[in-house]
Amino acid sequence: MLGAMGEFDLIARYFTRPTARAALGVGDDCALLQPTPGTQLAISSDMLVEGRHFLPDVDPAALGHKALAVNLSDLAACGATPLAFTLALALPSAEEAWLAPFSRGLLALADAHGCELIGGDTTQGPLTICITVFGEVPVIDGKSQALLRSGARAGDDVYVSGTLGDARLALDTLRGTQVLPPAVFEQARQRLEQPTPRVALGQALRGIASAAIDVSDGFLGDLRHILDASNVGATINTTIATGLMACCTRPDWSNGVISFEQQLSCVLAGGDDYELVFTAAVAARQAVQSASREARTPVTRVGRIERAAGLRLIDSQGKAWPNHYPSFDHFC
Ligand code: ADP
Ligand code: MG
Repeated sequence: MLGAMGEFDLIARYFTRPTARAALGVGDDCALLQPTPGTQLAISSDMLVEGRHFLPDVDPAALGHKALAVNLSDLAACGATPLAFTLALALPSAEEAWLAPFSRGLLALADAHGCELIGGDTTQGPLTICITVFGEVPVIDGKSQALLRSGARAGDDVYVSGTLGDARLALDTLRGTQVLPPAVFEQARQRLEQPTPRVALGQALRGIASAAIDVSDGFLGDLRHILDASNVGATINTTIATGLMACCTRPDWSNGVISFEQQLSCVLAGGDDYELVFTAAVAARQAVQSASREARTPVTRVGRIERAAGLRLIDSQGKAWPNHYPSFDHFC
């Protein structure tokens, strides 16, 4: 029991939708999914815990959006097409004032991606949201078209989608360690609370990108996962003109709101960006640009994969830039 509203009322009211793609949705012991012939299922889970991944007073509609967005971002990083998801929810109590906006935010993003809620579990407990998402990727001539972390090769270009650093600026502002003008803060907060998973870009990059990952812990830390899995190194250009600092929304250091070094730190290691970092052969540059246009998602080329292990940063003169940026780790 979850208070005045029973568990089954709650599921029926907020989490039961007719399904079109899934063979069977909420209401039985299992949901049934029928993957398209010639595809593989891509599956990913992400858990959000109050106080750890979101602040207790966050807008429930934004939280519903974000809980699914971080999962769709994993599908995007694999180049998968979203199919369906399950929702395991621990709630302190069944409050309509929280459940209604939460399910609205969640299901609006689900509808936008044709990703159906097909089941889950509901229990009483400290607020925890665990979503498992299912997508599909084609298999062509026996070869999976999924984008993996392990495919980067020496000589490949390194790209990043969209913009980096805003989510961290918003988080630091909420925590009181950063001061932003209200209009700038609102934009940054939108990025923190309602990230846009790059699902269309991930699909458009199938057969073009050699490796991909989504940025949850920070650009450098997540790129390092590609380097480790692919057994290569990289040099990243940090400059505004041709490198990573072209990926920050507002050069606010110019008017003294944020220092260049502070913003660079948010771009390199901020986390919670949910952009894609990917690699592709030099010969694929035009194809990457076409994929970017097709997906209506800007991409910036920021560096090069190299045989020598390690991650090197350079400035506009090609001089080494100290790499002392920590990546987020839940157990450190
Ligand atoms: P069981 O006891 O067999 O695990 P439950 O009573 O937990 O089943 O759930 C009943 C139905 O409601 C199942 O189809 C389950 O997938 C679905 N369900 C439970 N909680 C949720 C939720 N938060 N969102 C979507 N579906 C849910
Ligand atoms: Mg159950």
